[in-house]
Amino acid sequence: MRINSKSSKSLSKLENILIIGNGGRENSLAWAIQKNDLVKKVYLIPGNAGSERIKKCKRIKMDINNKIELVEKLNFLKIDLIVIGPEIPLANGLADFLRKKDFKVFGPGRDGAKLESSKSWAKEFMQSANIPTAKFWKVNSLEEAKKIIYSSSTLLVVKADGLASGKGVFVPNSKDECYRAAELILNGKFGKSGDIVILEEKMEGPEVSVFALCDGENFILLPTAQDHKRLNEGDKGPNTGGMGAYSPAPLLTEDYLLKIVKEIIEPTINKLKKKNIDYRGVIYLGLMITKSGPKVVEYNCRFGDPECQTIMPLMDQDFVFLLEKCAMGKLTGYEKIATSDKVSGCVIATSKGYPQEYETGFPIKIGKIDSTDCQIFDSGTCFSPDRELQTDGGRVLSIVCQDKNFDLVFEKAYRNLKEIEFNGIYFRNDIGHQVRKNFLNKN
Ligand code: AMP
Repeated sequence: MRINSKSSKSLSKLENILIIGNGGRENSLAWAIQKNDLVKKVYLIPGNAGSERIKKCKRIKMDINNKIELVEKLNFLKIDLIVIGPEIPLANGLADFLRKKDFKVFGPGRDGAKLESSKSWAKEFMQSANIPTAKFWKVNSLEEAKKIIYSSSTLLVVKADGLASGKGVFVPNSKDECYRAAELILNGKFGKSGDIVILEEKMEGPEVSVFALCDGENFILLPTAQDHKRLNEGDKGPNTGGMGAYSPAPLLTEDYLLKIVKEIIEPTINKLKKKNIDYRGVIYLGLMITKSGPKVVEYNCRFGDPECQTIMPLMDQDFVFLLEKCAMGKLTGYEKIATSDKVSGCVIATSKGYPQEYETGFPIKIGKIDSTDCQIFDSGTCFSPDRELQTDGGRVLSIVCQDKNFDLVFEKAYRNLKEIEFNGIYFRNDIGHQVRKNFLNKN
C-alpha cells in the first residue's frame, strides 16, 4: 500500500471533464483540473456564477436526477471523467449508476458513501476495525437517550445519524442541553436523518483534516489542512460550514502522519475491502489529536469545503491524472504526489447573519486582485438578470493565497479581500492564527 503518488501521464483520453456540484469546492476542483493541457473543457452541473471566470469551464443547467437526460448529455459531450463533489448524490448512488453506464467516476458508490451518510454505520465500522474513535451509544428513543445522558459521568456529544447539511451535531455544555438536543433530533428536526441518534464521548484536542485519494485498493495522501468552523474570531460562536483554512497543518509532523496512516487510514481501507466496498474517491478524515493519540471525529466521502479550495492551488497540473487513476482503480506504482513547496490559506467571506438568517441578492464588486498565487473561488454567487455578479448564499466566496509562509499568505489574502465588496460582507480576521507568527506576536 503506497502513501504517496507521482503521476505523470494519463491512462486514457481526458479532454472533457464533468464536475457535479455548485460550491467553492467544485470551482477549486475545476480550476485545478483545467491546468492540464490535455483537458479541453471542464463542465459543471450546475456550478455557480464564479465557474464562468475559470478557464475552459462551462456550466450546464440540468437536473441530475433526470437520469435519461443526464446520460444523453454526457454521451453527447463525450465526457471522459466525472467528479462528484457533494455527499448527497454520492449517498443516493449516482456514482454507481454512472459507472454502470461505463463512465469513469471519481466518487464512491452508495455503499462507500455510508462512511458519511450514516454515523452509526461509520461508528460500527470503526469499532469492528479497531480504529480509534470516541466511545458511542446508538439510540432510537428519547427514553434510552435520557438514561444514557444522565447516567454518564461526562458530557456527551449528540448527533443525528444521517446527513443533515453539517447541522446535525451538538456539542452541549450541560446534561440538560444534551437531552434537549437528543429531543430535537428524535422529534424530527432532521427528518429521517434523525431516526437514530448517536451519543458520543466528548473528546478534547485540536482538529485536523486528512484526505486520502483511494482507488479501491491503494491510496495517496493530499496535503493536510486545518479549518476554522466557528463563526467568530478566537474560534468562538456558532459552528459554520467553515470560515477559512490553511494547508499543510504543521501540527502533523511526518512521524505523526505515519501513525495516522498505520492506526487509521490503512485499517479503514482494509476494512472497506473486507466489506467488498470498491471505494474510488476521496476519504476525508476529520481527526482530533487527543492526549491518547489521533481519533476519528468523522469520515466524509467527499472533499471538505473550504479545505479543498485551500489545497487545490498546491496541486500541479497532473492532479487530474490522480483522479482518473482513482476512478479506474489504477493508483499503483507511483511514488510521490507533486505538490507546491508553498503553503496555502483561505478566508471565507459570508453574508451578514450567516449561519442563521441572511439576505441575498447584493451586488458584488471585485477590484484588482493579485494575478499570481491568489484565487477567488465563489461558493454562493449568481448573476442578476442584467448579468451583475451578486450574493446567493451564506458563504459567498473564498479568497485563497499561497506563499513561502503563513504570514505572507494571510497578509496577501487580507490585502486582496479589501478589493472585494458587497453589502454585509463578513469574515474573520484571525484565520490561521495558530500558524501566523506575526499574529501570535501581536496578540
Ligand atoms: P462532525 O460533523 O461529526 O464532524 O462534528 C462536527 C464538529 O463537532 C466537529 O468538527 C467537532 O468540532 C465537534 N465534535 C464532533 N464529535 C465530537 C466529539 N466526540 N467530541 C468533541 N467534539 C466533537
